[in-house]
Amino acid sequence: MSVLIAKGLKKYYRSAGGFFLRGSRQLRAVDGVDIELEKGKTLGLVGESGCGKSTLARLLLRLEEPTDGTLEIDGTDFLALKGRELRRARRKIQMIFQDPYSSLNPRLTVGSTIAEGIRIHGLARGADVERRVSELLDQVGLPRAAYSRYPHEFSGGQRQRVGIARALAVEPDIIVADEPVSALDVSVQAQIINLLADLQRDLGLTYLFVAHDLGVVEHVSDRISVMYLGRIVESAPAKELFSDPLHPYTAGLLASIPTATPGRRIKAAISGDVPSPVDIPDGCSFHTRCPKAFGPCGSETPRLEEVSSGRCTACWLYKE
Ligand code: SF4
Repeated sequence: MSVLIAKGLKKYYRSAGGFFLRGSRQLRAVDGVDIELEKGKTLGLVGESGCGKSTLARLLLRLEEPTDGTLEIDGTDFLALKGRELRRARRKIQMIFQDPYSSLNPRLTVGSTIAEGIRIHGLARGADVERRVSELLDQVGLPRAAYSRYPHEFSGGQRQRVGIARALAVEPDIIVADEPVSALDVSVQAQIINLLADLQRDLGLTYLFVAHDLGVVEHVSDRISVMYLGRIVESAPAKELFSDPLHPYTAGLLASIPTATPGRRIKAAISGDVPSPVDIPDGCSFHTRCPKAFGPCGSETPRLEEVSSGRCTACWLYKE
């Protein structure tokens, strides 16, 4: 069952022209993305920095308003909601941020940080708030003594646990985790990923797990969507995407994982830089870096289409 369905989501910004350019141009950060989150499952969303994945994550929470597209959460038109209705619906979708330090208020104790949402949404009162916060501290593996301490007294991994407890405090169904481990040491990354997996199993949560590295999402995702310059270029069940990537960009990302599956041959990573989103190449936006570019790639844009059961890609190599 789908708990979130986004169709044709776009976010365009006006970009000031450079020194030699008059007027303004459009920066197409998200350019017609379809996304579907299945209840209790994890969708990994992967792409290099600047590909629009964080903007897409923010659109799903309406931290930014889309330029176009539709967004349904639990069958409700999320984009049509206003005021109190929006606040109530927003409780159901929460975000975990990349940098757990800057996303926490340094002047609030951990207890107050976690309790804030509980109070705002009236989920508990009086002593029950404290009891609920203690329960959440247990759930994320922090000592109860953390209640009266401040964020700066904790390590990066512990601060991320506080961020997770704060997100869970309002009893969400969906968690959007935007690069939740990329600011952490590798040893701590595994602990946070395991914690998120345990919470998903215990609470039936649905995740969108955003990362720039396919290696990070390999073991947590049921399905993976790969994003390039504002568009999804491949979407597939995680195992199939790893064993048989279809899109040359996915293949390049896989090849650039340094210590992935033993025996996997390490090839050269994708050449060149991601083009600017204000100057997206015509045709397939990957053609300037693609080792397999041919005839139509530089002039005609391939659409994301299903090429076999559950496997979609936007590449001319797979069109009839
Ligand atoms: Fe490469 Fe062409 Fe496929 Fe784009 S459409 S990924 S340029 S082969």
